[in-house]
Amino acid sequence: MDTWQNYLESYLLEQIEQHDDIEVRWGNKVVDLDDHKDHVTLSIQTPEGEYQHTSNWVVAADGGRSFIRSHLNLKMEGDSYEGRFVIADIRIKLDYPTERLAFFSPDWNPNNTILMHREPDDIWRFDYQLDPTVTPEEALKPENLKKAVADQLKMIGKDHLEWQLDWSTVYSARALTLPDFVHNRIIFVGDAAHLLPIFGVRGANTGFQDAFDLSWKLSLMAGVIKTCYKAIVPIGCKPPKKSVPKRESQRALCRRLAMAIRFCAMRYCHYH
Ligand SMILES: Cc1cc2nc3c(=O)[nH]c(=O)nc-3n(C[C@H](O)[C@H](O)[C@H](O)COP(=O)(O)OP(=O)(O)OC[C@H]3O[C@@H](n4cnc5c(N)ncnc54)[C@H](O)[C@@H]3O)c2cc1C
Repeated sequence: MDTWQNYLESYLLEQIEQHDDIEVRWGNKVVDLDDHKDHVTLSIQTPEGEYQHTSNWVVAADGGRSFIRSHLNLKMEGDSYEGRFVIADIRIKLDYPTERLAFFSPDWNPNNTILMHREPDDIWRFDYQLDPTVTPEEALKPENLKKAVADQLKMIGKDHLEWQLDWSTVYSARALTLPDFVHNRIIFVGDAAHLLPIFGVRGANTGFQDAFDLSWKLSLMAGVIKTCYKAIVPIGCKPPKKSVPKRESQRALCRRLAMAIRFCAMRYCHYH
């Protein structure tokens, strides 16, 4: 299934809007943070000024150039590959089936490959390898993009069709990961935690897996903390006269722990 990320994000927002306990704060940028033992204080910049927010846990989902990762001076490990690729999304009516087309060493781009595939709304993605001597800035100049697309369309006999450029970028493949995603109360997910080569189309997919994985684990932690708090506090304090006997409280704690684990495990199975 091919779904654009901007569609995906709008579907996620639709879901979020149905949950009163989730608040989206647009235009809020984390510019500083203090990681205390049991909580984190974030400094957040907004158009109206800066404010501080204190949280028990922070999920760092701030992308491949993660500010939080740099701020904590965490280094990713792995490889960055040299090859650079251009993406040119163009709007055009092509009657090809919805499958990926690959062209190897075409005359207009010898020794390199070009991929074409359909996206929603009559957009076709042209994805071609860049000659190592050409800089990304040079490749993204409108005249150079136009020439590359025109050459490819000519090669496949479609140069009589009208088209417009919708979006373009240059990317390179990286296989990098943080050795550890959890740093005290800060948990890294998505591109902030790992960068996967684009060829497997797994970047966003693994971000979703992180979110599913984390949701049941945090939920388990919250459940355990809450359960322990409720059950343990009466044991630690001097029991009021008609309190539940100690053994009963411990049994209740175990039962609640088991229920929390079962509940989270069920959610985990459901998601996977
Ligand atoms: C050309 C291309 C094609 C791709 N195709 C696919 C594909 O087909 N399938 C797939 O699974 N993946 C694909 N990927 C990878 C995918 O886009 C990424 O893995 C995914 O977007 C990562 O999501 P993320 O939420 O971790 O980070 P991002 O999408 O980068 O989101 C990070 C968010 O954090 C915000 N942010 C950053 N800094 C701060 C700060 N200091 N304070 C507050 N907010 C901040 C940003 O504004 C942004 O909203 C592709 C990537 C590229 C470049």
